[in-house]
Amino acid sequence: MNNIDSMDRLTSAFSSLPGVGRKTAERYAYAVINMDSESVDAFARALVDAKHNVHYCKICGNFTDHDICDICSSRKSDTICVVKEPKDVIAIEKSKGYHGLYHVLHGTLSPLEGRGPDDIHLKELIDRINQGGVAEVIVATNPDVEGEATASYISRLIKPLGVKVTRIAQGIQMGSDIEYADEVTLSKALADRRDI
Ligand SMILES: [Zn+2]
Repeated sequence: MNNIDSMDRLTSAFSSLPGVGRKTAERYAYAVINMDSESVDAFARALVDAKHNVHYCKICGNFTDHDICDICSSRKSDTICVVKEPKDVIAIEKSKGYHGLYHVLHGTLSPLEGRGPDDIHLKELIDRINQGGVAEVIVATNPDVEGEATASYISRLIKPLGVKVTRIAQGIQMGSDIEYADEVTLSKALADRRDI
């Protein structure tokens, strides 16, 4: 704290971001004060605009600033890759090993935290499948307890609808996060997927 109210508020705002400690937050706050007014206005506008304009794609649930995201509007595929959160879409896209569609659950099932099927975007997935044209659903949730539980739940739910359900291979270490898997590992995990 440096006893300048506005600086303290700015520092607190930065330190609320993931991975930003107090020291870094202070450096950011000073960097903002040293910017010219126009740049600060543009910075503030970028924050507000992103928050106002970015929402879930009506089809897949990924973030977009249109009604339908770029992937849903430009790709034709009978394969849907199911992920926990938007960051996972970015990780899989970077691996360049997958060219199908996505479905973002915005969470995984967690009895411990009281998160059930109605708390994640599962109904939206079933609706998509019921509309037809889906041959395979690849479950690419993280290889941890919640991710595995979610995968088997999805499999039980979707198989009766006549759709092939697969799970990404175990190249990704158990308990780790697919967001942090390297591109080669992720690409291989997708290629080596197995039926569940
Ligand atoms: Zn979409």
